[in-house]
This record gives sequence, C-alpha cells and structure tokens, in this order.
Amino acid sequence: MAVTQLIYSSRNQSVDEGSAWQEMLRSILAVSQRNNLRDGLTGFLIFDHVHFFQILEGESDRVRAAYSRIQKDPRHAEVTLIGEREIRARSFPQWSMASAVRSSDQQEIFVRHGVPDSLDPATIVAPTILALAMDLQDFQLSHAQALRAS
Ligand code: FAD
Repeated sequence: MAVTQLIYSSRNQSVDEGSAWQEMLRSILAVSQRNNLRDGLTGFLIFDHVHFFQILEGESDRVRAAYSRIQKDPRHAEVTLIGEREIRARSFPQWSMASAVRSSDQQEIFVRHGVPDSLDPATIVAPTILALAMDLQDFQLSHAQALRAS
C-alpha cells in the first residue's frame, strides 16, 4: 500500500525560556504519540527552538487530517508545506513520533547536512530535512544502545 509522506515547517509561538519549551514539547509529543498510534502515522519532529520541521507518514487521508489539526494549533504559526509525496516504505516505521531538539552534541550532524546555523524554512528542501532526520534518528539509536551497554 502506498504511503504518503508530508513535510512541513512552522515557527514556534511558545515562550522559549527556562524549561517552558520542554513542557510544551512534552505535551505536543504526548498527544502526537497517542493520536498517531491510533491513526497508523509515523514520523519525526525536529525542533531548533525557533522552528519546527515535521515529517508525517501514513495513509493519505490520515496524514491530511493530522496536518489540518496541526495547522490550527496556536503553539506554532507560519505552518508551511515543504513537500508531499507517495513513498513505498516509511522512513520512520518504528516511531509514532520521534523527535530531536537541536543541541551541541548533534551539531556535527547539522553541519554535515549544510545547516551549521539555524534551519531556514525558506531555503531548506524536503530531501535535506528527511536526510537530517534519518541521521538524527541513527544518532539517537546508537546513543541509546551505548547507554544500555554501559
Ligand atoms: P486535544 O489534545 O484534546 O486538544 C484539544 C485542543 O487544545 C486542540 O485544538 C489543541 O490544539 C489545543 N491544545 C492542547 N494543548 C494545548 C496547549 N498546551 N496550548 C495551546 N493549545 C493546546 N497532533 C497529532 O495528532 N499528531 C502529530 O504528529 C502532531 N504533531 C504536532 C507538531 C507540532 C509542532 C504541534 C505544535 C502540534 C502537533 N500536534 C500533533 C498536535 C495538534 O496540533 C493537535 O493539538 C492535536 O492533534 C489535537 O489532538 P486532539 O484532537 O486529541 O485534541
């Protein structure tokens, strides 16, 4: 069955002070994981404190329904579609919604993908976001494995 993969960017509207952003992200991920599991959606969310970049994948109608809910969410603005295509296999099959917050330990990965500074939604293209998210996913998996082994 064909799977739709949708990528968008948006601008954070929540206060990025202290631990407020962590609470905001925790609440977004909790509802995302609950709804996405129910709807058979998978994906990845990158947050760099200014922008969100999210990849949503699954059955076309379900992806569209989630995207329309997401567009109305007051926690972000300037929701902009970057790409939408049909794919044969999911890129993030094991995650109802995984996430990465940009931090210094992942800087080398961002540099490798040509984004040494902030991610600019006006210039970044879908393949770059996808490749970046896949490398961030690999980084997290190997980090988790190393922690388990120690
Ligand atoms: P509920 O969780 O019951 O929420 C009801 C309403 O309250 C919604 O309109 C919601 O926007 C609003 N709301 C809830 N908490 C807050 C808050 N702290 N501040 C302001 N308004 C709030 N949803 C998904 O299902 N899948 C995703 O992958 C997904 N990704 C997201 C990524 C980003 C960057 C953001 C900002 C939101 C994302 N969401 C996602 C959440 C989405 O926007 C909706 O809030 C959610 O889908 C609504 O789920 P619900 O119908 O179960 O309503």
